[in-house]
Amino acid sequence: MPIYEYICLKCSNKFALLQSLYPVESNTECSKCSSKEVKKVISSFSCTSSGSSSSSSMSAPGFGGGGGG
Ligand SMILES: [Zn+2]
Repeated sequence: MPIYEYICLKCSNKFALLQSLYPVESNTECSKCSSKEVKKVISSFSCTSSGSSSSSSMSAPGFGGGGGG
């Protein structure tokens, strides 16, 4: 079961809830102040790159090439 993160618009409390695949936002309330004014937070990809000086080059890994059929 997926875990959805929510943030309370009232007390800015961030909490996670274990809900089914299709959660009902209207039924979601803050775990701190029990406010219904919560917003779903889309968990973004954690791309934490350690600060290191290195030459970065943009190159797509084998993307392309003809062929068909
Ligand atoms: Zn709250």
